[in-house]
Amino acid sequence: MIHIKASEELLNEIESGLKEPKELLFLSGGEYPVKVEEVKRVKCFEKRLSEEETVALNYNAYIPKEFKEKISSSGTGEGVLFSFSYFYKNSQKPKTYSWVDAYYFQKGTEIYGFLILDEDNNPVFLAEPTTEELKKSEGEEYVRFYAGNWLMASACVGVLKVLENAREDIEKYVEERTLKIPKGLWEKLPELYVDYLLKDKESVKRSLEDSYRQRGADINPYNTLIYSRLRDFHSNSPFTNQSHEYIKRLKGVYSENLEEVLEKVKESFLEAYRKLFAITKELSSTCFFCHERQARNYVDATTFTPLFASLETVRNFIWDPIPICKECEFLLYFASAGFYRSAGKYLFVYIPDDLLETYRMNMVLSTKEEIEEEKLGKVWSIVKYVLDLEKQKSSWVLQNIYFVEIEMVGDATANIYSFHISPNLAKAIRKLIDHYPKNLQDIFSEFLFYIYTGRSLYEFLFLLLSGFIRKDSYKNLQGGTIESKIAQAGRSMKYISQNLLFFINFQGGCQLFRFMIV
Ligand SMILES: [Zn+2]
Repeated sequence: MIHIKASEELLNEIESGLKEPKELLFLSGGEYPVKVEEVKRVKCFEKRLSEEETVALNYNAYIPKEFKEKISSSGTGEGVLFSFSYFYKNSQKPKTYSWVDAYYFQKGTEIYGFLILDEDNNPVFLAEPTTEELKKSEGEEYVRFYAGNWLMASACVGVLKVLENAREDIEKYVEERTLKIPKGLWEKLPELYVDYLLKDKESVKRSLEDSYRQRGADINPYNTLIYSRLRDFHSNSPFTNQSHEYIKRLKGVYSENLEEVLEKVKESFLEAYRKLFAITKELSSTCFFCHERQARNYVDATTFTPLFASLETVRNFIWDPIPICKECEFLLYFASAGFYRSAGKYLFVYIPDDLLETYRMNMVLSTKEEIEEEKLGKVWSIVKYVLDLEKQKSSWVLQNIYFVEIEMVGDATANIYSFHISPNLAKAIRKLIDHYPKNLQDIFSEFLFYIYTGRSLYEFLFLLLSGFIRKDSYKNLQGGTIESKIAQAGRSMKYISQNLLFFINFQGGCQLFRFMIV
């Protein structure tokens, strides 16, 4: 159901175009045929509904952000925030758009508050005419970035880590999903980044010594300290390409004086930064990432290898080259700092609506000590952190949290996985986790593995009971696999307790959604 508010003249044109179309109606580029069920002029009226007189949504709905602030919902959470391209600013390719933020609500959600209803009692969510221009004019003294996707969010988190390391009060640079950096601070950012990369003097010293031992006169401290940190995400870039003079120059540089070496590495890094800004293309489009500044390049493997290394493999979701401005291009280099890195894998936690909370979650990742089941432990530490937030917030966050995992499988190839906790699983966790059987703490991480990978808890229970019932036949069972650990735990149960119902209840309420992007 689409409501359109317009001048009488335009409404007449739309009405006759829909009632007596001159061509086949379709949506988008022609791939979605449209069947019009009814065209009707409706009068709308404003109404304030109390919590007792809610309206249930008849359809899934997109509610513009400004509008949503005036209404409340009950039942199915706070909705999920999306950014949509809204109107073309120009119609020739590459197109640039205005953008609008809207919350997606599911059919059946009860809403109340300040509503606009049509004469058939359907709620009407009119978007404001484009608001984009407004944002621009107030941004004079700031360089703004928009964490509208996990990639940009990971870069923003990287910047926040760097600023934190420089003892900046980071909260004042974040507004919902926007990172705004004062111009003066922006100028210093490359220097602060290299300080961050070299901050741990002890480990810097150790790496240099190791490298010297292995390579002797072939040592290149830049490669040891910078390239090693950036190459997985940014191959062949001004910061990593071995043919650049400022990198080659450091070959063989080794000295007992650590500060002297670091100073040279720093100089080279700053030269790489200047080089990055010196390479520009003349493009007419606006940057895809900030929706604001003039694009100067297209995104490629240089800026973010795992995603853009092979345009063949990502065809389906990157149809056109993605235009990017110089500021956003530099920002993407902070993604390496935003992700948590461990043994060739990178993990990032993303909450679409809240950059500051996204930052805090990722700090939980990097500060919690290593746990045996590395990845599961990490994911679980996040879930535990979320459960400790105030109740209402935690329900919302649990449903809107995304995990992005990048697994390096070659020099320039990586698998990218993303998964999120489904609303049902979030609910199950909130409601049931306290009832996890105390006598089965030993296989808690196996339980997590099951829900994390979406395996059936009935199977989990079956293994547990097999171990219990067939104690003797399993007496030689070797440990090691997840399955055998569960059966072992069953063997050591003394009796079957009612608390095993936990697994059945949990299964009833949960499904974890996991999909592969690349
Ligand atoms: Zn940009």
